[in-house]
Amino acid sequence: MIKTFGCKTNRADSEKIISALCGEGWSLSRGDPSLCIVNSCCVTARSENKALKTALAFKKNHPSAEVVLSGCVTDSLKEAALESCIGIKLKYPPVFASVLPEGRQRYFLKIQNGCDNFCSYCIVPTLRGAPASRSRENIMRELECLENARAFPSELVLTGTNINLYKDQGGGLPDLINTIRKRYKARIRLGSLEPPFEEDFVKKLSMAANICPHFPVPLQSGSNSVLKKMRRKYSASDFMKTLDEIRRYFDKAAVTTDIIYGFPGESEDDFNETLDFVAQAQFSKIHVFPFSARPGTLAALYPPLKPSVIKERKARLLAAAAKSPEDYRRKFIGQGLEVVAETKIGEWFYGTSDNYLKVKFPAGKALPGDIVRVEVEGTLGGFMNGAAAETLWTANR
Ligand code: SF4
Repeated sequence: MIKTFGCKTNRADSEKIISALCGEGWSLSRGDPSLCIVNSCCVTARSENKALKTALAFKKNHPSAEVVLSGCVTDSLKEAALESCIGIKLKYPPVFASVLPEGRQRYFLKIQNGCDNFCSYCIVPTLRGAPASRSRENIMRELECLENARAFPSELVLTGTNINLYKDQGGGLPDLINTIRKRYKARIRLGSLEPPFEEDFVKKLSMAANICPHFPVPLQSGSNSVLKKMRRKYSASDFMKTLDEIRRYFDKAAVTTDIIYGFPGESEDDFNETLDFVAQAQFSKIHVFPFSARPGTLAALYPPLKPSVIKERKARLLAAAAKSPEDYRRKFIGQGLEVVAETKIGEWFYGTSDNYLKVKFPAGKALPGDIVRVEVEGTLGGFMNGAAAETLWTANR
């Protein structure tokens, strides 16, 4: 049994762990497991607590099972785990996830690990270490394994701590994408892209075919003074220029982002600058997080804001963050979206469009993994809904 917290990198790591263990004769169990793994995230104190609680619940509910923590594990989490006889495993065997996990049509392909930006609030460089890229050859071997298992996905999601740091043989991310594209037709989605980008990065990406027009770019704050305290390497206007560039090269670009509110020293004016930025930037999805002091980081030493101020800012930021995604979704009513058919429930398929919208459509003759053009008629709950017009890609299984 495995439970994964946090980012897409952790999901890719979990798939690797599953593959390694399956290769040693283990199988996934939902019933009475003899091994429970919690792949944890320590980006905030909350996520760290959740991972520990899950490991403790595994320990209680499956007393004869070995319980192991992996992923991002801080020293305090390590201590708490060891006190409760929970094991720690931080190094993964160098294997590929050579099968597409059951029911999954989109595959998380890890291409890079680590970061040395040392943003003042972030514990990831300490936990994950310096940036390291997998070689193109090694990545292509993983894809060959999938091909040989006749389980090639419709979409590859390139993941890593900071994938625009990807480098191999003097080439960067666009070169890797071109190498993959020469051999495979699956569409490619980019994981988290930390700004600033290298010159011509977006233009080079636009020249590689079949990239999903979806860019997860964390803003964190719209205030230059806060960005400086966060040790981010761009200003608010640099970020806006990056957005313009993305939209110049990619039609219907969806830019998703993360924002931290209540950062130490964030004044009312600073916070209003973030709200103004959100109002202008037309993000298609915004994840908001309260500042969380991570021991061992610079920002943990800064005097915190009052909890009442943080709480009040959360409400205002959530209200601002809800507007632009709804406006973005509405733009696609009456248009066609290219959707991977992922989960079939009754007569309906649920899937993800190239521009990262959740879409529901009548299943008809579509099969899991097919890419279908859906004419969008409206929005329903969190989904766009519409009729399937044409199958653009048939899953090769
Ligand atoms: S760029 Fe991202 S991963 Fe790297 S230190 Fe900053 S927040 Fe952390």
